[in-house]
Amino acid sequence: MNHTIISIKEPINEPGYTYAPGSPERALLKQELERMSGETFEIPVIIGGKEYFTGDLGKLIMPHEHRHIMGTYHKASPQLIALAIDAALNAQKEWERIPWMERAALNFRAAELIGRKYRYILNAAAMLNQSKSAHQAEIDASCETADYMRFNAYYMSIIYREQPHSTKDTINRLCYRPLEGFVFAVSPFNFTSIAANLTTAPVLMGNVAVWKPSSTAVLSAYYLMRLFKEAGYPDGVINFVPGSGASVGDAVLASSHMAGIHFTGSTAVFHGIWKRIGENISRYRTYPRIVGETGGKNFIMVHASADLCEAAAAIVRGGFEYQGQKCSAASRVYIPTSLWPALKKILEEMIAGIKIGDPRDFSNFMNAVIDEPAFDKIMGYIEKAKKSAHAEVIFGGNGDKTAGYFIEPTMILTKDPHFVAMEEEIFGPVVACYLYDEKDYEKTLYLCDETSPYGLTGSIFARDRQAILKASDILRHAAGNFYVNDKPTGAVVGEQPFGGGRASGTNDKAGSHINLHRWVGPRAIKENLYPPTDFKYPFMQEG
Ligand code: NAD
Repeated sequence: MNHTIISIKEPINEPGYTYAPGSPERALLKQELERMSGETFEIPVIIGGKEYFTGDLGKLIMPHEHRHIMGTYHKASPQLIALAIDAALNAQKEWERIPWMERAALNFRAAELIGRKYRYILNAAAMLNQSKSAHQAEIDASCETADYMRFNAYYMSIIYREQPHSTKDTINRLCYRPLEGFVFAVSPFNFTSIAANLTTAPVLMGNVAVWKPSSTAVLSAYYLMRLFKEAGYPDGVINFVPGSGASVGDAVLASSHMAGIHFTGSTAVFHGIWKRIGENISRYRTYPRIVGETGGKNFIMVHASADLCEAAAAIVRGGFEYQGQKCSAASRVYIPTSLWPALKKILEEMIAGIKIGDPRDFSNFMNAVIDEPAFDKIMGYIEKAKKSAHAEVIFGGNGDKTAGYFIEPTMILTKDPHFVAMEEEIFGPVVACYLYDEKDYEKTLYLCDETSPYGLTGSIFARDRQAILKASDILRHAAGNFYVNDKPTGAVVGEQPFGGGRASGTNDKAGSHINLHRWVGPRAIKENLYPPTDFKYPFMQEG
């Protein structure tokens, strides 16, 4: 079975559908939305392939129509969390031994299943339970998920090929063992693809996972579990334990077998997890790998030579798509005073054309924010701006949570570059702007670099090459993903490996070989082809 050396070709990205009027995909997605909207779900805990119904229930809500409860999910009890860890460790015995190409095959099959069978299911789940538009669901839940599956398998083959050199009388090898223990995958609400990658990237490298999905995105997480099962991942390799972050987190992090955490979410939660790992450090059998991609306060720096329409489109798409709930969303913009009147006019026209509402109405560009606490928190930031003497809400500023959690695309203009909306992650459709004198371009680049603790994404808009070079240099630590004349969102697997430093995470670049390296514990094997038979060296002989 193993007598073969396979070379995996670099994949191409899953092509996205447009869902334009009259297209077959539009009809099929609408059909699936209708079917799913009429269904009532009861989602179990899944351990070792078995379903468990604990009776401790959470609700599946439509953020844009919060009275519509789509069903419930069962939260994992402490006993079930212990069972999930045991199931993972039991599954690992076989899983870490199967030939790597068999593991790669499951990833490729999962990607094919997404393209052909699960596309509308995953998209509809993201639209209904996470309030994504058809386009946002397509690029995330279908395309990016399939891309992670295919590209990671390809990157694995490249990693395994990296071998030390051998000599005439030795054979040297690096065996890319998985970690000894299980990986704890913890996913955020905002990307189905990230949830898929957090679980399957370590698993592809031979690890086993205990997965805690976000409580506000359990539906798409459940469909991912069904996809993994259908693709052929053995029972126990990925164990699904929904529940509250702290209760699941504390129990899992206390296990001596926790060999790594693959986290995406807020900086505050990651700080808490890291501290907990520190407290538990003497329990663990091995130093856990800690991989976390966290928050952002992503900038757009507009130079005096920028094209105004290009900059405006980037601000609107980068700031407001998926209601600003992307870790990479543009949320602070630096604009030369001289450009402001013209840019403001273009922005005003663009923002006036934005429709907000239910994602089942495809004419809506924006939908609801994820839940009531998010709505209240975002509106709190807007209220602060309304009350401040240093800021002014120039567009939007209203929210309505009567039927769904809707917030208008909002822009705040501030004279204080350290105003709270310029520094803190709001994670909603709010963009703060600061005007600078174009003579102070370089000074403003330093200001941008030093303003926020984050370092995730950022853009420079300029036609002047020197201005681009200067921004790229001064802002080199300000963003792990840096864009020239493009919005700071929308990284594509295989094209822009994703992640940032500072308070934005460990920058282990999801969607690249860099991330996969974190999930292996290499073993170097030397074989001596002609071992010495005497302990003495030539220099020891008498002259
Ligand atoms: P969150 O931090 O509230 O939750 C993330 C996950 O952590 C959830 O599953 C949650 O239940 C879990 N959790 C909470 N407390 C925990 C604990 N004590 N132990 C273990 N798990 C715990 O984040 P969210 O609201 O789901 O997502 C939004 C955040 O994620 C934003 O800050 C955003 O910037 C960030 N994000 C970052 C990236 C990136 O690649 N850098 C990508 C997506 C989202």
